[in-house]
Amino acid sequence: MRTIDTLGYPIVVASGGLAQVARLVEERAPSHRYAIVTDENVAAHYLDHVCASLVAGSSRGVTRDRVHTVIIPPGEQHKTRERWSAITDALLTQGCGRDTAVIALGGGVVGDLGGFVAATYMRGIPVVQIPTTLLAMVDASVGGKTAVDTPAGKNTVGAFHPPAAVIIDPATLATLPARELRSGLAEVIKHGVIADDTVIDEVDAIAPVLLAATASRDALEAMIERSVRIKANVVAADERELGLRKVLNFGHTIGHGVEAASDYSLLHGEAIAIGMVAEGWLAEHLGIATIGTAAAIENAVKRVGLPARAPAGIAPDRVLSLMRSDKKRRRGVLEYSLPKRVGEMAGESSGWGIPVDDAAALEVLRSLGNRE
Ligand code: ADP
Ligand code: ZN
Repeated sequence: MRTIDTLGYPIVVASGGLAQVARLVEERAPSHRYAIVTDENVAAHYLDHVCASLVAGSSRGVTRDRVHTVIIPPGEQHKTRERWSAITDALLTQGCGRDTAVIALGGGVVGDLGGFVAATYMRGIPVVQIPTTLLAMVDASVGGKTAVDTPAGKNTVGAFHPPAAVIIDPATLATLPARELRSGLAEVIKHGVIADDTVIDEVDAIAPVLLAATASRDALEAMIERSVRIKANVVAADERELGLRKVLNFGHTIGHGVEAASDYSLLHGEAIAIGMVAEGWLAEHLGIATIGTAAAIENAVKRVGLPARAPAGIAPDRVLSLMRSDKKRRRGVLEYSLPKRVGEMAGESSGWGIPVDDAAALEVLRSLGNRE
């Protein structure tokens, strides 16, 4: 078992950790009732196990009738205000009062939605995050951001609501589809580019065994721990995204544009992989990154089987216009988080956000389209 404690709440990485939920939940979020929010896919694999271990492991006499469950349909399209109101209604109907803690069991969608329910229910009750996708383990569950999507965009309504604890059980990845696993590896690579140049080799070594579900427990736990630590250190230094936390947006300025241009047919991590490659080349083009940085990022992305280029049919102009309607803008000029090299970000003197003219971004996007 590995514990990361830099954020004031424990983030535990332990294979088989689901069997220990009672201990951590009772220590960090002692409550009369527990409301487990999860989705249909995750429920089919893990809900009974988590309910049972919560009751069996309880040292405070928690009975099954005090463990409530809310199961939502899977998918980002359900991360809505309507679903938020349905979940809060379900908790109200089931008699959950202030003395309730939410347990968000699932991927980023469940984590964001369950977290936002907890942030607002009775003006705020504790949430324990139990992420079951790689993406949620190394990224979404860490840092306290919760939100729902609206027609105006993703995560447009939300709150900072740090969890009471995060319980990561890498064994749950055994049932996660390979495409989702790869998508999560994009954020692991991102953390490497931001802060640790040895991560790319680690990802390289683990990707094939991870995808074949034969990764050693220890190697998988180590990779997740390292990635979570990088994110936790950045978040600890800048909880409310005033400066340093912007480095976590590497790959996301262009990535979000690509994701939207694909009408969300690309998974988040796939779009971010494409965004990291493009932003790596942009950083070199601008003379910000040392020569070789972009190629290293591109190779890392390709070796794990993530896309390095936007699919044909997604035009650079369209990506750019969708980026413009995204939120990271400073006085009209788009802002980027760009690397100096793999393992170190640029932009400290400008608050870690680097304004770049659209013309330069377009030039790079167009040239990448011609250079496969
Ligand atoms: P993300 O974490 O990438 O934001 P989601 O919360 O949308 O994504 O989860 C991605 C998909 O994977 C959903 O369909 C979800 O039901 C499913 N899922 C999540 N965790 C697991 C798991 N451990 N095993 C199988 N399927 C899972
Ligand atoms: Zn991301």
